[in-house]
Amino acid sequence: MSRILVAEDEARIASFIAKGLTASGLNPVIVEDGPTAMAMALTDEFDLMILDIGLPGMDGFQVLSRIRGSGSTLPVIILTARDSVADTIAGLEGGADDYMQKPFSFGELLARIRLRLRSTEGTGSSTPEQDATILTVGDISLDMRTRRVRVGGKESDLSSREYVLLETFLRHPDHVLSREQLLSHVWGYDFDPGSNVVDVYVRYLRKKVGADVIETVRGMGYRLRTPDATSTDDH
Ligand code: CA
Repeated sequence: MSRILVAEDEARIASFIAKGLTASGLNPVIVEDGPTAMAMALTDEFDLMILDIGLPGMDGFQVLSRIRGSGSTLPVIILTARDSVADTIAGLEGGADDYMQKPFSFGELLARIRLRLRSTEGTGSSTPEQDATILTVGDISLDMRTRRVRVGGKESDLSSREYVLLETFLRHPDHVLSREQLLSHVWGYDFDPGSNVVDVYVRYLRKKVGADVIETVRGMGYRLRTPDATSTDDH
C-alpha cells in the first residue's frame, strides 16, 4: 500500500485529503509543520508527498529545497494558493513534480497522485492496450495523460471536471454513485451541497460517451453501465 506524506497545517484540508486517500486504498500520514515534514520526507518511508506551501516553521519551498538538496527523489505535489502563478513556477523549478491550486477537488488530486506513483513504478515498454495510463471499461477508453476519451471510433476532449467525473465512474463500474459522493469527490470541499452541477456535468458527459452509458438511478444517483451488465430499469 503506497504511503503518502501529507504536509498541511489547515486541519479541514488535511482531513479531507486523508479521508480521500484512505478511501482510495492509500495510506496517509499527516504532518502540520515544515520541520516535521522535512524530517519525515527524508525517512524513505513514503512513496509520495503532498506539500502545502504555507506551513509554519519552514515553508514548503524550504522543505522542498532541503529534501532535494539531500538527494531525495521522493515525488512531491505542492499545494499552492489559488492563482498564485509565481508560487507554482517557483515550486516546479524547486523540484516539485506537480502542483494543485487551492481549492481543489479530491478527484483531481488523486489523478495526479496516481500518475506520479505510476511513473516512479516504471512500466517499461508497453503496447497502448497495456498502458497503465489508459483506463478502459467496455468500449470506453480514457487516456489519463491526454485527458481524451475514446468511445468506439470517436474521440473527444474533456474539461477537467468532466475528466475527473468520468474517471470516477470508470473506476466504479456498475456501482450507484450518489450526487453527494460525486459532488465531494469531483468538486471538493468548498462546494454547495444543494448545487445541481453533478446533473449538468452528467449531461455533458453523456454527449461524449453516449446517452445510455451513464444511467440515472432514481432517487439514488448515477451508475456507469458495463456492456455485459443486465438492467431491469429499461427506458
Ligand atoms: Ca497552509
